[in-house]
Amino acid sequence: MAIALIAHDGKKAELLSFALQNKILFEQEELFATGTTGKLLQEAGFNITPLLSGPLGGDAQIAAMAAEGKMQLVIFFRDPLDKHPHEPDVQMLMRICDVHNVPLATNPAAALLMLRGRKHI
Ligand code: PGA
Repeated sequence: MAIALIAHDGKKAELLSFALQNKILFEQEELFATGTTGKLLQEAGFNITPLLSGPLGGDAQIAAMAAEGKMQLVIFFRDPLDKHPHEPDVQMLMRICDVHNVPLATNPAAALLMLRGRKHI
């Protein structure tokens, strides 16, 4: 299963901690991430394919994969308390997930449920 991981700057520590705590759930999955998030995860030992940084098109790359049926789960820890220059891309990614019925988790509780239930998707 191809899984995308994205975290806004204010949520990167939370995503890293979530990934480390639930490392076993990511084993044997194909992981992708936006640039800066991916670098953090790589440094923590995850085997991950980093894409462009979110503001430079990384969210759009993940959306394109979701639209083409190449992404089966998107974990996107958004920071609802901050502004983002690439907000149109963020909205586009969420819209594409809905258009193509791709599970989208925007917080740790949802991500955990989806990862645990992914075999049934
Ligand atoms: P980043 O992108 O991982 O390159 O910081 C995340 C985002 O803001 O979409």
